[in-house]
Amino acid sequence: MTYLTSLNDVQRQAVTDTDGPVMVIAGPGSGKTRVLTYRIAYLIEQGAAPQQILALTFTNKAAREMKERIQAVVGSKGQRVWAGTFHSIFARILRVEAAKVDFPPAFTIYDRDDSKSLVGDIVKEMRLDPKQYNANGVLARISSAKSNLITPELYAKNDDLVQYDRMNKRPQIYDIYARYYQRCMQAGAMDFDDLLLQMFRLLQENRENVREKYQRIFKYVLVDEFQDTNYLQYAIIKLLTSYPGSEHNICIVGDDAQSIYSFRGATIENILKFEQDFPNVSVYKLEQNYRSTEHIVKAANMVIQNNNKQIQKEIWTELGDGHKIKMIKAVSDVEEGRLVASTIIEYKNRIHLENKDIAILYRTNAQSRVFEEHLRKQNLAYKIFGGLSFYQRKEVKDILGYLRLTVNERDDEAFKRIINTPKRGIGKTTTDKIAEIAVAQGVSMWAVLTSGLYPATGKLGSFVNMIEKFKAATTTLNAYDVAMMVAMDSGIFEQLRQDHSIEGIGRLENASALLDGIKEFVENDNADEATNDRSLAAYLSDIALLTDMDTSTEDEPNFISLMTTHTAKGLEWKAVFVVGMEENLFPSYMSMSSPDQLDEERRLFYVSITRAKMFLALSYATSRYQFGQFRYNDPSRFLDEIDEVHFESTVERRSKLPFKEPKLLADRPGRKQTYVSRVNPADFKPSPSEELAEGMQVIHMQFGSGKIMNIDGARDNKVATIHFDQGDESERRIMLRFAKLQIVED
Ligand code: ATP
Ligand code: MG
Repeated sequence: MTYLTSLNDVQRQAVTDTDGPVMVIAGPGSGKTRVLTYRIAYLIEQGAAPQQILALTFTNKAAREMKERIQAVVGSKGQRVWAGTFHSIFARILRVEAAKVDFPPAFTIYDRDDSKSLVGDIVKEMRLDPKQYNANGVLARISSAKSNLITPELYAKNDDLVQYDRMNKRPQIYDIYARYYQRCMQAGAMDFDDLLLQMFRLLQENRENVREKYQRIFKYVLVDEFQDTNYLQYAIIKLLTSYPGSEHNICIVGDDAQSIYSFRGATIENILKFEQDFPNVSVYKLEQNYRSTEHIVKAANMVIQNNNKQIQKEIWTELGDGHKIKMIKAVSDVEEGRLVASTIIEYKNRIHLENKDIAILYRTNAQSRVFEEHLRKQNLAYKIFGGLSFYQRKEVKDILGYLRLTVNERDDEAFKRIINTPKRGIGKTTTDKIAEIAVAQGVSMWAVLTSGLYPATGKLGSFVNMIEKFKAATTTLNAYDVAMMVAMDSGIFEQLRQDHSIEGIGRLENASALLDGIKEFVENDNADEATNDRSLAAYLSDIALLTDMDTSTEDEPNFISLMTTHTAKGLEWKAVFVVGMEENLFPSYMSMSSPDQLDEERRLFYVSITRAKMFLALSYATSRYQFGQFRYNDPSRFLDEIDEVHFESTVERRSKLPFKEPKLLADRPGRKQTYVSRVNPADFKPSPSEELAEGMQVIHMQFGSGKIMNIDGARDNKVATIHFDQGDESERRIMLRFAKLQIVED
C-alpha cells in the first residue's frame, strides 16, 4: 500500500473512489497522470481483472511507462491492462471485428503519404487543378468531416460545408471526399481518422454482438489528457461506457488550459459535456504542483491568466522559490543555437545536470537544425523526436510496401510503390493503364492483373508470381521469415548491396534494422498482453501508429531531448529551454489574426514552460531565416506577460538590452522596439488603438506605410486588415490590441 501514501489526500480520494464516474481537471504537474496510473493499480488490487481496464494515453510510450509503474505495484499481470493511444487500441479491436465494418482483417493503415497520393490521383482523374485542390488542404477538410461524424453523403447534403468550399473556390471537395472514402474501402485501407470513424460505426451499428461485448470487457475506462480528445473520440468513449446498469466506471483527467490540438478538432467542450453526460460525476481538484519551483509556477500562472476562456484554477508549489528564469537573447538563429548549447554546458558544469535532465522545445521542427549543429559541435548527446522518422525512409517504406501488398492485396498505394521498385522494366504507362482500369471497374490494381482485365504476362506475370509466393509464405512462415524472403526475392537487398556509397551503406543498414525490428516483434511473444497478435498484419499496424515519441532508438540512453512543444505534453525535465520566442514563430504567424488561435498558442506556451522542474530558459533571436527568407521578428508577446521579478536579474530584460542600435533605446527607455525599420524609429509614435478606423493611412514600424482596409471583431479582439504599400505580403491582418500603428495625419 506504499503507493497510496505517496499521494496527497485529494489524489488518494480520486484513486480510491472507484464507483461511478470521476473527473480530475487540474493544472500541470499536479499529479493527474500519477492519479490515473495508481487508480489502475488500485483497481487491480481490489480485484479487477487487468484485461477489463482500458487506459487511453497520449502516446504509446506514455502507455508503456504507465504499465511499468502499475507492474511495480501489482506485478506482471499489470501487462495485461489495455493501455495505448486511441488509434492503437482501436486498430487492435478493428482487426478482430473488421468484417463487421466491411474491411479485411489485414486492412492497411494508410499513412499521410498514402492519403496524399490517393487524393492527388483523384484530383488528377477529376481533371481538377492540383494547386487549387492541394492534397493537404483537401485532407484537412476530409479529416475534419470525419472527426465530426460527417460521412460523404452527409457532407454533400450539408449546405454550410458545401457553401464554405464554394467560397474557398474548392466546390468539388464533397466529390473528392466521396471518392476518397470509396477508394479507401476498396483498398481495404483505413487512414488515421478512419480508425476512429470505423470504430464508431462498429459500435454504433452492432449493438448486441459488438458494443455490449466491449462494454462488458472494458469495465473500467480511463483517459489521460482528456482536453485533447475530439468529438468523435468522446463519442466512442461514451458508447464504450454506456452499458445498461453499469456504474459508468470512467475516469478522465485533463487540463483545459493545456488543450493544444483544437486545430485537429479537439474540443474542450468535451469537458463541459462530460459533466452533463455523467451527472453523478465526482470532481476532484488538484492544485498543488509537485513538478516545478515557484518562479516557474508563478510565471505560468501569469501567462495563462491572459486567456479568458478557462476554468479558473491556480497552481502552487511547496518546492521553494528555486531558480529564476533565464532569458537568452541572440541576434540570429545561429547565435541562439550557440548560446543555448553554451548555457547547457554551464548548467552541466555548475549544477551537474545530466543530458537526460535537459530538453530543448521549439514551435516547429524546422528550428531543430541549428541546435543539432551546436550540440554536435560541443559533443553533447542529443536525440531529436519527430521529423523524418525511420519508418519514413525510402528503403524502409519499400520493404514495407511489399509486406503491405502481401497481407492486403487490395492496397493500391503499396502496389504503386513497389510494382517497379526495384526497377524491373514495368513502365509508368503500364502502371497508369492498370490504375485506369482499376478505377473504371471499381476493383483493386492487383485484381486487374489477376482477373484477366489486363494481361499479366512477361514481367508483370513474374511480379504476380512473386507476390503470390509471398502470400503463400505467410501461411507457413512467421512475419520475420516472410520479411526476409521479401527483402531477398524482391531484389531490394541486392540493389542496396550494390551501392557502395556511404549513403548506400546507410540504406542497407536501415533495411537490416527494419528486419531486426520485425524479428524482435515476432520473438517478443508476450503471452501476458491483452491481444497477443504477432502476425505480419499486426506488425504493420503497430508501426503505422507509432507516434513521434515512439520512434526513437535508444542506443544512447543519456541524451538531451529535442522536440516540438506539442510533443512535450505530459513530460518533464529538470532544465527546459523554450526557444524561438518571437512573434510570427511563437505565437506562430498563422495564429496572429485569430484571437482563438492566439489563445491556443498561449496554452502551448503554458504547456512548454510547465515542463520545467528547476531551470527554465527562454530564448529568442532578433533575426532568422524563416520561410526561406531572412526575417526580423519582434520578441514574443508572451515574454511580456511574465513579471520581471521571475527573470534572472544578471541578464537584463530585453527591453533594456542593447539591440542593434543602442542609442535608439536611450531615446525611449523601456519601450519595445522593432528591429527592421522602414521608418525612422525616433519619429515613430504609435497611436492609441481606439483611435484607429477604417480608411486611415497608418505607419507600422516594420511594414511601413499602409491603409486600414477593414476592421472586424469586437472590443479586445478587433483585427485590422491593412494594405501595406511595400513588402512581399502586402495585405496583413493585425490585432489592434497589439498593433503598434501610427496614424498619418493629412
Ligand atoms: P501534466 O498536466 O503536465 O500532464 P500531471 O498533472 O499529469 O501533469 P504528473 O506528471 O502526474 O502531473 O506529476 C508531476 C510530477 O509530480 C511527477 O514527477 C510526479 O511523480 C510528481 N508528483 C505527483 N503527485 C505527487 C505527490 N503527491 N507527491 C510527490 N510527488 C508527486
Ligand atoms: Mg500528465
